[in-house]
Amino acid sequence: MPEQPELTIQGWGPPGPADPAATGTGGDDLTAAVPKGALKYLTRELGWTPRPTPPVAVDEIRLAPSRLSEEARARFVELLGEENVRADRESRLRRAGGKSYLDLLRRREGDASDAPDAVVLPGTTDETAALLAACGELGVVVVPFGGGTSVVGGLAGIDPDDRPSVAVDLSRMASVQSLDVPSSLVTVGPGMRGPALEQALDRQGLTFGHLPQSWEFATVGGYAATRSAGQNSTGVGRFDELVAGLTLATPSGVLELGHPPASAAGPDLLGLALGSEGTLGVITEVTLRVRPKPQSRVYEGWSFRSWAAGLAALQHLARHDLLPDIVRLSDPDETRANLLMASGTGAKLLRGSLKTRGHSNGCLLVLGWEGLPSLVRARRTEASGLLRDGGAIRLGNKVGESWKAHRFQGPYLRDRLMDAGLLVETLETAATWTALPTVYDAVRRALRESLAREGRRPLLMSHVSHGYATGASLYVTAIADLDDDLPIQQWLTAKRAATDALLGAGGTLTHHHAVGADHRPWMEREIGPLGVEVLRAVKQRLDPQGICNPGVLLPD
Ligand SMILES: Cc1cc2nc3c(=O)[nH]c(=O)nc-3n(C[C@H](O)[C@H](O)[C@H](O)COP(=O)(O)OP(=O)(O)OC[C@H]3O[C@@H](n4cnc5c(N)ncnc54)[C@H](O)[C@@H]3O)c2cc1C
Repeated sequence: MPEQPELTIQGWGPPGPADPAATGTGGDDLTAAVPKGALKYLTRELGWTPRPTPPVAVDEIRLAPSRLSEEARARFVELLGEENVRADRESRLRRAGGKSYLDLLRRREGDASDAPDAVVLPGTTDETAALLAACGELGVVVVPFGGGTSVVGGLAGIDPDDRPSVAVDLSRMASVQSLDVPSSLVTVGPGMRGPALEQALDRQGLTFGHLPQSWEFATVGGYAATRSAGQNSTGVGRFDELVAGLTLATPSGVLELGHPPASAAGPDLLGLALGSEGTLGVITEVTLRVRPKPQSRVYEGWSFRSWAAGLAALQHLARHDLLPDIVRLSDPDETRANLLMASGTGAKLLRGSLKTRGHSNGCLLVLGWEGLPSLVRARRTEASGLLRDGGAIRLGNKVGESWKAHRFQGPYLRDRLMDAGLLVETLETAATWTALPTVYDAVRRALRESLAREGRRPLLMSHVSHGYATGASLYVTAIADLDDDLPIQQWLTAKRAATDALLGAGGTLTHHHAVGADHRPWMEREIGPLGVEVLRAVKQRLDPQGICNPGVLLPD
């Protein structure tokens, strides 16, 4: 087991619930975390007055007694050993739910009703398979737990039959099992986190290069189970594209899926496991495609006068196969907020220069190029020409480097803002280049209307962060004055309106956060009733007792 950090309620950081001492109360912490200009902007935009909205203390969190029977406990101990079956308060609280805004709100209110009845830690595929078979016989629900960073209720542990549940913590299976350098393949345990994987590959001059914003804590198994996308997925590929094979332990047996380099032996069953969110079993091994560490890395900033001009330029790059490895186009609201959040003389000069050049209401584009120096040079030269033709002005490498330096910090800021009376949540989708502008307008309208109250309006910041030949993803951050009386209802209403709007306009239910419990009411709209039936039939074959994460993915 990796060393356990102190138990806190911090929304971001290692899994765990609350400690108000660790989060502050909205006063000093906030001014330290948010530059004065940005704070002024937020109060003006949102009609919000910072006020302390701290979480409850750790010992005030309500946790029902474990419902795991003595028979089940004894069986698990027999399979895994005493130390790998835990029902103590701290172990259960650490695996209570994920990291969505709603998860954090509930925990801050002292609600840990999503905590499992116990935590079990298998160490091998065989142990996991035996555990699943035992859970099937005993009627115990199984929720695989990787890094606990789900933002869609993937770990909610909901069971229509209200059976006892265990979190299957995968942190004991977190090592490199084999590395095949000539074939560029590495096989790892599902509990491995990004930093440890990169460290292991670095010694061989290799990289995996999957960098979601949750990189510090999320695991390889979690990425596979949710079809994650990283910051440089435009170049490297989404996580699901980088999986060459995996092992799935199910209550009905073990499946070995994938056959690198390629196979035409019927439909690819690997695709069934990717994105299965623990509903078919537990991923116990993942084989990934790796590549040499890039010799050249260039990050740069550009500016467009408008969102439409920025989108048109990206579409143009995509058509000519010139999209960089990292693409991040912010809309005017996100650009303004980013510029205000940046402090120092450089940022001030940049704001001044953009104003002079008529881009004060413009859109920031961050690009990242990685690879062999000559190829990076050639791609950049061609792309720069197209960007300039599209009306972009180059802001230089400092802007790109600054984005890179701060790219994992956003989630920490969310905690500070929640402590001071703000709603902070994100949602994401993807659409074709044709539908994207309509989806953008529809989502913003829905969020604006549902989050506005008594003259106060939300701040909505959007960006495109993954480009494809056919379209792009869209990511929206909503910040609004917290409804102190009905905080959970406030976001549920907004999320429902936004999801209906984005689906109606042609967006997908989710581009990379997955379905979880939060999106499943819309799953039938996404894949159709027959699609849902097909998934149900597969689940019925692999998980006849319906013990594998029953509360996610498939609608009731
Ligand atoms: C601040 C923040 C930033 C984020 N940024 C990104 C981002 O940039 N890109 C992105 O794609 N996502 C992002 N996410 C979402 C989240 O990190 C991803 O969904 C991630 O893939 C989940 O990995 P995890 O190991 O934490 O899985 P968990 O949260 O532990 O689990 C997620 C789901 O997968 C299932 N699961 C986990 N492990 C296994 C396994 N071994 N076998 C079967 N099922 C399993 C769980 O039961 C659950 O349903 C972000 C989340 C946060 C909180």
